[in-house]
Amino acid sequence: RGEVRFESVGFAYQNGREILHNLSLTLSAGKTLAIVGGSGAGKSTLTKLLFRFYDVGRGRILIDGQDIRDVPQQALRSVLGIVPQDTVLFNDTLLNNLLYAKPDASEQEIQDVIRMAHLEHLVASCPDGLQTVVGERGLKLSGGEKQRIAIARMLLKRPAIMVFDEATSSLDSRTEKGIMAAIREVAAGHTAMIIAHRLSTVVDADCIAVVEQGEVVESGTHQALLAAN
Ligand code: ADP
Ligand code: ADP
Repeated sequence: RGEVRFESVGFAYQNGREILHNLSLTLSAGKTLAIVGGSGAGKSTLTKLLFRFYDVGRGRILIDGQDIRDVPQQALRSVLGIVPQDTVLFNDTLLNNLLYAKPDASEQEIQDVIRMAHLEHLVASCPDGLQTVVGERGLKLSGGEKQRIAIARMLLKRPAIMVFDEATSSLDSRTEKGIMAAIREVAAGHTAMIIAHRLSTVVDADCIAVVEQGEVVESGTHQALLAAN
């Protein structure tokens, strides 16, 4: 469960030039794929196509062998989870912002994801702890804090495929490393991960695909890429 294939995908936004050209990529179930490339390369667009925010122009995207255009929205959403670049929180308590991903989560599960996403200090410093209202009308949080909440929310949901779109860009590198290690531990072997990132800080991904101007220009393990360059 959790195999993703992009097959010869071409895509243009409405009335725009083509952003992705004949792009093919495979993520094996339970593996980690890093999509690395500069700003504007098409990384975010790739993740949006996977969620069907837009449909491909040419080619197809398969999850576990099934064209995602044939998968009902609800089924697609249950198998996929994303930590986007800019997380928007609900005007609700911190706890409810987490429970959104899994309404019946136990207290222990909540504590576990808070620890893994390095949120303990945040919760401790909030006036009402987990009952503190956050979001536009509540306590304002930094970009990094919002990202950590989004990560905790996804860890609670545990979808078969986790997508991170520049999801750790607002974190310092030590926090980022700690959180990614915790996520890998959770994911180990049974959760596929797609990590879109400007920089190749994701050296231990099973596969790294370098995307430039909507095309995969190189792919392989970090070692293989180093050997080729
Ligand atoms: P819709 O989903 O209605 O087609 P748009 O395509 O206009 O919406 O935009 C979707 C998102 O992409 C918006 O958040 C918008 O700000 C952003 N966006 C629009 N154009 C660009 C662009 N050229 N580069 C990056 N982001 C863009
Ligand atoms: P990356 O995530 O690698 O920075 P994106 O996928 O966000 O790249 O963007 C790829 C290209 O698509 C850019 O040229 C960007 O301006 C354009 N783009 C992104 N979103 C939109 C949109 N909603 N409408 C039109 N163009 C967009």
